[in-house]
Amino acid sequence: MEENNTYRDQLSTVDSKGKRVWVFPKKPWGWWYNKRKYLSYVLLAFLFAGPFLRINGQPLLMLNILERHFVILGQTFHPQDFHLFALAMITLVVFIILFTVVFGRLFCGWVCPQTIFMEMVFRRIEYWIEGDWKDQMRLKKAPWNREKILKKGSKNLIFWLISFLIANTFLAYIIGSEALIEIVTSPVTEHFGGFVAIAIFTTVFFAVFSLAREQVCTFICPYGRLQSVLLDKNSLVVAYDHIRGENRGKIRKNEDRQAAEKGDCIDCNLCVNVCPTGIDIRNGTQLECINCTACIDACDHMMEKVGMEKGLVRFASSETIEKKTKFTLTGRAKAYSMVLLGLLVLMSALLITRTDIEATVLRTRGTLFTKMDDVTYSNIYDIAVVNKTNEEAPIHLEILEGNAEISMIGNELLIEARGEHTGKFMILMKKDQMKSGKNELKIGVFNNNQLEETISTTFIGPI
Ligand code: SF4
Ligand code: SF4
Repeated sequence: MEENNTYRDQLSTVDSKGKRVWVFPKKPWGWWYNKRKYLSYVLLAFLFAGPFLRINGQPLLMLNILERHFVILGQTFHPQDFHLFALAMITLVVFIILFTVVFGRLFCGWVCPQTIFMEMVFRRIEYWIEGDWKDQMRLKKAPWNREKILKKGSKNLIFWLISFLIANTFLAYIIGSEALIEIVTSPVTEHFGGFVAIAIFTTVFFAVFSLAREQVCTFICPYGRLQSVLLDKNSLVVAYDHIRGENRGKIRKNEDRQAAEKGDCIDCNLCVNVCPTGIDIRNGTQLECINCTACIDACDHMMEKVGMEKGLVRFASSETIEKKTKFTLTGRAKAYSMVLLGLLVLMSALLITRTDIEATVLRTRGTLFTKMDDVTYSNIYDIAVVNKTNEEAPIHLEILEGNAEISMIGNELLIEARGEHTGKFMILMKKDQMKSGKNELKIGVFNNNQLEETISTTFIGPI
């Protein structure tokens, strides 16, 4: 059979003149689609409820970049926790690499919010209003009559409303649900910036889901672009079993396909018709494929219909198709798993040992010691305390090791919720208690009489 290689040089959604080819995918159905549908209900419920769910009075997730206030799973994080953020990012990147190496773009088809909203919300509304793919094509070509105005108008109105809802939710993840409710329930003039942000987000989401669609996954998403360097012949992807399927050929009544040297692919094109990215999976793994499994369902349906074994298109690696073996984890995947495990252990240890109060104590630069009276000497120290809790923190310091006394300079350390405080204090030590010119001390930082941190420092004396 003569191979058609045009797909290697040309995107399925762009014609030879560079013009967008609009994809009209056939309505998907089947076992995999149902599983994705149920998962999408859970994910959507979680996504919309996220900003309103509370753990210890704190949101599940809030990433307030403007006020540098971050809450993840009810835990408040500050810019001082940047090392945790950096480590979490590294862990995430390793996880993505590992996951992609082993499972291809499974994330894109099943969990990515872009696909969930596009295929499980906007596309389904489109099928409901405009009908299946052929009706949509017909409607596109039809003149602007009453039916077209009504269908396109109502669809776009619903798309705008959902985009508005998504924009509000998105903003709630940034500024918090209380701040969002205040913006929405106050006059526009009081929160003009907030309303502008909602309007911009709404327009962007509308443009993404009504116009850009699969182009986001193909051109814009960096993860999509990464997959071509991460996948190898052992990665699990949605794949066409070309050994079994070729030579493809239409079904003919009473024909012996084996004798006619035909494979199991009956060239019905159903796998192509259902593809939301407009590709032909029979050409092999391609950049556009988001592993949505619509072609698996379509082909399984067709195989059942003609009495052949299902699985001509299935989750498989190219290695298992070539060698007709079972899927196993490669050495590379195992190595990535070990690195990932190490990072997760480190991350957990840092999170467990993370304190609510973080204090830094340094002897004031350029000072040595001051003689207070015949027997007592003092050193001056700078203290910086960060309160990571959501309540006011009355801080006091105590000497835990060493014979000395603390004397605060200025106000007591009463630090507001999620606030920071810098101040000075003195340590007084009697000469006969000094062991050398440099005496080791341990200072306890207490919040509400509870020891939060122990800090080691030195006291310089005249000996
Ligand atoms: S080729 Fe199949 S799995 Fe990939 S995007 Fe198209 S329908 Fe989905
Ligand atoms: S759905 Fe299956 S049988 Fe039909 S063209 Fe695709 S691979 Fe071939």
